[in-house]
Amino acid sequence: MTQEHTNKAGFETRAIHAGYEPDPMTGAVIPPIYATSTYKQDGVGGLRGGYEYSRSANPTRTALEGALAALEEGERGFAFASGLAAEDTLLRSLTKPGDHLVIPDDAYGGTFRLIDKVGVPWGLEHSPAAVSDVDAVRAAIQPGRTKLVWVETPTNPLLNIGDIETLASLAHDAGALLVVDNTFASPYLQTPLALGADVVVHSTTKYVGGHSDVVGGALVVRDLEVAERIGFHQNAMGAVAGPFDCFLTHRGLKTLGVRMDRHCDNAEQVVEFLTRHPQVSEVIYPGLDEHPGHAVASRQMKRYGGIVSFRVTGGEEHALDVCARAEVFTLGESLGGVESLIEHPGRMTHASVAGTDLEVPADLIRLSVGIETADDLLADLEHALEAGSR
Ligand SMILES: *Cc1c(COP(=O)(O)O)cnc(C)c1O
Repeated sequence: MTQEHTNKAGFETRAIHAGYEPDPMTGAVIPPIYATSTYKQDGVGGLRGGYEYSRSANPTRTALEGALAALEEGERGFAFASGLAAEDTLLRSLTKPGDHLVIPDDAYGGTFRLIDKVGVPWGLEHSPAAVSDVDAVRAAIQPGRTKLVWVETPTNPLLNIGDIETLASLAHDAGALLVVDNTFASPYLQTPLALGADVVVHSTTKYVGGHSDVVGGALVVRDLEVAERIGFHQNAMGAVAGPFDCFLTHRGLKTLGVRMDRHCDNAEQVVEFLTRHPQVSEVIYPGLDEHPGHAVASRQMKRYGGIVSFRVTGGEEHALDVCARAEVFTLGESLGGVESLIEHPGRMTHASVAGTDLEVPADLIRLSVGIETADDLLADLEHALEAGSR
């Protein structure tokens, strides 16, 4: 398929074909892992296909970046060594000391640490606002000074929903850009650029890679001038993804659609099971009618994702017990892989925010529902909850 044809195709077709055509010399259907730092030039400056040095560009990375751009419906994609490396490059590309940012009041911990502990000493200022509260975001924007409005939706671990279209127009009215961390939804469920966002951020470590075997990050943008600034900084700062990592991430990306549908199918079954369980006091999932972000999520997401949070009746001890007793759900941090994970945010991913406004309930459990057989997942939760209620 020609790339022009591919970019108009459906999601799964783009996931499999965008960014790469079989190698003209060998016919290789899959982009080879170009383990090379440099490229032979045909006379000084005579680059073959623009390749000069692998920090600047590498064909394995080019293929991944093309696929990411096609799936997020952006102009250009950029692959980085981690989600935080992508975020750091984004911050230094689009802000300078003295600038102000609005960030989610429940931002991913690593994002908050980067902005607060690295960005602030460098000269940035930030104001937190709940992404689900348009008035709070509007009040936090300082027209003229605010350069980025940074949103995650759904957020972690409480799965709050921000209205991307409304937040984009708020940001643009104030002369700022809207950044959306799309890690939790993935481009299969939500395409922020099509809703007016300017930059999409990914930890490709999660659903995009999808197999818990590689750490990576990405940025996708729709404006060519923004793309140029980010492209310059990607090369100037050098936090690029290596060819082996790009290969793994790209291999994962090809099955994103089928994996996400199974993640969602299983999550829906888990939600239904937990909702009826006497030892569960609350289930948090944007697909539930009673979730405060349900209407917005229904508008901007195809389905509601694979992350489910819930609270148990027996307090923190009970929650810790459930985490310890689950067997098919592996106790661990991270999310978005084919295997189901369970964690206690209060003691694990969110331990560093204990005692602050970002503190999460002690009886809260977060599940990253994988793509195993649903009945096995339900039986495991049944067993873990029973044992935990002694
Ligand atoms: C994991 C994660 C990040 C950070 O990505 P790394 O690949 O771990 O650097 C950023 N945002 C969200 C929502 C994440 O889940």
